[in-house]
Amino acid sequence: MIKEILLLGNPILREKSERIVKFDVELINIINDLKDTLIDFQHRKKIGRGIAAPQIDILKKVIFVNLFDRSFPLINPEIVWKSSEIFEVWDSCFSFDVAFFVKTIRYKSIKVKYQNITDEWLEEIFTDEMSELLQHEIDHLHGILATDHLKNNKDIILREEWEKRYNTNSSSKCRI
Ligand SMILES: [Zn+2]
Repeated sequence: MIKEILLLGNPILREKSERIVKFDVELINIINDLKDTLIDFQHRKKIGRGIAAPQIDILKKVIFVNLFDRSFPLINPEIVWKSSEIFEVWDSCFSFDVAFFVKTIRYKSIKVKYQNITDEWLEEIFTDEMSELLQHEIDHLHGILATDHLKNNKDIILREEWEKRYNTNSSSKCRI
């Protein structure tokens, strides 16, 4: 079901999410709602790659990623390793309605430990776009938003300016 996305200023977005313990129908419903809401947003706004459960008012550690070559949930994800190499990303968020972008510094690669829908633990290294995307989504599970990474007012631009500077009609530029 397509859910309403909570926006910046909503205190729920600042809460810490709980671990998933039961791999039951309730979890399947959360994953389906995340997927439906993400796909709807992607269609309406022509942007977006991932969503975290707190954004649809569910304080549980679940993320859903939908890229054109890969679509999957990450349950109880945890970053267990970070590269020393970092990079700059203009980051936005469904919870900002993608109205603006903020400059953030992210790790170039991370290793994430997470469970899949069948309660199996997996460990996977993600690099570049997947790395910064998952850092953004995992932040949501800890009540952290991209604006928390803002260092000064030059590091925030409106979507229009971002499109002018960076958008090349490539889905790889969809920094949310
Ligand atoms: Zn976000």
